Amino acid sequence: MTRIIGIDRHRLTTDGEGVTTLAAFADCPLHCRYCLNPECHKRGYGKEYTPQSLYDAVKIDDIYFRATNGGVTFGGGEPALQSAFIEAFRAICGRDWRITLETSLNVSEEHIRRLIPIVDDYIIDIKDFDDRIYYSYTGAHNALVKSNLRLLIRHGLKDRITVRIPLIKGYNTHNDNAFSQRMLRKMGLTKFDRFEYVVNAPKKHTNFYKLAGLSIPMDLSEK
Ligand code: SF4
Repeated sequence: MTRIIGIDRHRLTTDGEGVTTLAAFADCPLHCRYCLNPECHKRGYGKEYTPQSLYDAVKIDDIYFRATNGGVTFGGGEPALQSAFIEAFRAICGRDWRITLETSLNVSEEHIRRLIPIVDDYIIDIKDFDDRIYYSYTGAHNALVKSNLRLLIRHGLKDRITVRIPLIKGYNTHNDNAFSQRMLRKMGLTKFDRFEYVVNAPKKHTNFYKLAGLSIPMDLSEK
């Protein structure tokens, strides 16, 4: 059983190939100052699922997934913490659905090793390559992020990785942003998404859905 704080269907090109359904897990090891999804830190928020009950909830779109090379995108919170759940989900859904992971990669290597044979594509929010900036923004260091990134690259997965490099008001600059991209390029990565975080937004949970481009939030009052 794990807690999922939102499911959103019929997403196109926002987080993975084809038509995708986003499943957002609760819990995250980071504390980003402008967290888009603060509900992931609230105890008891969302609804509990088993891999089978999640499969049952999302299989309605099987035909779209198959027709468009789409599938399920796991986000959060931090989905890589739920590697065992995702592994069990893959065993149920088979190889025909694409599984994409939207992750900070700031988890123990054990999780990433478990996910490597399962996940098709990775969308990695790097925040900032500079550890001082990363720490001031997230309250955590980024050594694990870098070592996990190297692990994925060593496994020949660099072409399946898109790195998000945000410009974060009050924490990094355009130069920092460009520096992050240069360092990531040196590691062999080529796919980047540079953008600016929206800040000064009200911290209502509904805001997460707007900022993330979600349109159909699940009924969060349900338990
Ligand atoms: S990684 Fe995402 S969910 Fe976690 S604290 Fe940062 S913005 Fe929030």
